[in-house]
Amino acid sequence: MKFAEFARICEEIERLSGRLEMTEVISRVLSGLDEIDLPIFVQFVTGKIFPDWSPLKLGIGPNLLYDAITLIVDGTRDDVIGEINRRGDAGLAVQAILEQKKMARRSPRAATIQTALFSQELDLAEVYGKLEKIARQGGRASQQEKLSLIQSLFQNASPLEGRYLARLLMEDLRIGVGEGTIRDAIARAFSVDPREVEHAYQARNDLGEVAMLARLGESALRNVHIMPFHPVKMMLAQQGTIAGAIDENGTVAAEYKYDGSRFQFHKVGDESRIYSRKLEDVTDALPDVTRILEGATTHDVILDGEVIAVRDGKPLPFQAVLRRFRRKHGIEEMQKEVRVQPFVFDILYLDGETLIDLPFIERRARLMSALSDHVAPQVVSDDPGEIEKVYQESLAAGHEGLMIKVLSSPYTPGIRGKNWLKIKPSVDTLDLAVIGAEWGEGKRAHVFGSFLLACQDQGELTALSKVATGFSDEQLADLYELLSDHVLSESGKEVNLEPFLVFEVGYSEIQESPNYECGYALRFPRFIRLRDDKGIADIETLDGIKERYLRQKK
Ligand code: AMP
Repeated sequence: MKFAEFARICEEIERLSGRLEMTEVISRVLSGLDEIDLPIFVQFVTGKIFPDWSPLKLGIGPNLLYDAITLIVDGTRDDVIGEINRRGDAGLAVQAILEQKKMARRSPRAATIQTALFSQELDLAEVYGKLEKIARQGGRASQQEKLSLIQSLFQNASPLEGRYLARLLMEDLRIGVGEGTIRDAIARAFSVDPREVEHAYQARNDLGEVAMLARLGESALRNVHIMPFHPVKMMLAQQGTIAGAIDENGTVAAEYKYDGSRFQFHKVGDESRIYSRKLEDVTDALPDVTRILEGATTHDVILDGEVIAVRDGKPLPFQAVLRRFRRKHGIEEMQKEVRVQPFVFDILYLDGETLIDLPFIERRARLMSALSDHVAPQVVSDDPGEIEKVYQESLAAGHEGLMIKVLSSPYTPGIRGKNWLKIKPSVDTLDLAVIGAEWGEGKRAHVFGSFLLACQDQGELTALSKVATGFSDEQLADLYELLSDHVLSESGKEVNLEPFLVFEVGYSEIQESPNYECGYALRFPRFIRLRDDKGIADIETLDGIKERYLRQKK
């Protein structure tokens, strides 16, 4: 497929508003693609270059993109940034810049140059190849190399291609195609059950691969297995109550809710790796956890658990363990300073067998048989009083609360459902994405002083609140450091930010409000902490906000 064709399809989809129409358009395209273009198209159309499990990350911030655009235009970097600020979108800005360039070349004198410049038409696989090359260039020294690769892409792009190329480089295509739409389109294109597509996606964590399986037929989809060293998304929890959980399910399992960091441990023979909640490989930062878990099993396994930091047998605040996950240097000393303790609560794979479809109660039995130690203790009961006791014990021991799990439930990667319920004393905090900021005032004039936050609605981000309190000067300086490379555009005192950072915020009440896009707003929002263990996909949904609003009204 030519990249020009891909851009044309994106433009067509961008004009549509209904999910059904989008599904229809995409499914028609999918059914005509060959095995090279199919997986790439499926990834690209959702605005992602690589599948979530892949260790490859593109890592192009707005600054590098702006440098690359500057190299292909006659103007300065400030002109480029000015154009982006005016249009509020790097894609539209690049399109306009390339249009101007094309116009300039329309003079007869420039005709020969024009043919030379547009002689090389981009195709999808070639774009993917270059992006893969960019992702493989780790480290600072490679900026120059990355820059020339990006420049070579733009050099061969038409204005419309430029629009989608720029957005693809920011991994935000802005055409509204979420995972749900693409899954439905795959099912439709190859006449297979959408539930099988969903299930295969949960196991493989790779939409491109799932599309290829769907092309082979339903039995290929059904026959998927989890693979070691190919991490799957973590199963997630909803808020709940002890009484509600027992009313609905009868007997349930209760475990402490540990306030640490989620991990997925993969081991085959002597080889093992640990992945963070965002599926990053953090093995090198956590040699002690690897050692502990390797020592507790002789089997080939994929385990799911939470690792906490401890001192004198007491849990430390969750930031302490996060420091360990982030650590790149001085890991030896850090191991002594911050001691870690893993608690394993699930098993997804054992000696070649995929376990995610087994009921939790059976997975738990396999877990107990495979691991000699470090399994999270559990109480199984239908007595609210007994479970309340476990909850109080957990809090008294310094943990965060309680997790209640439905015994018959499969392991559903990436799904936040009713099969795992979390119970915490203070439920009034939300995890939200930072999508904008405003420069501070007075002594805070050189950093951002307030932030615009969003929740997610069907894969799109929608603004919900600003937060300006709860920050120390030191935190604001750190946040500026984290965010300054991710400014997409600026107007007056406000900046638009590339969404990647998650804040946990407290609030006193959710109100209906016309001030924000989503129709709700937070009363007295305050910053609690940075959740850099969480990604944009983990933030609160608009449905969750509505539910809290209704619950609060009652
Ligand atoms: P939250 O981060 O508030 O959405 O709560 C869910 C998180 O609690 C999970 O993603 C885990 O990181 C963590 N957690 C702590 N203890 C457990 C447990 N026993 N079972 C499952 N998740 C747990």
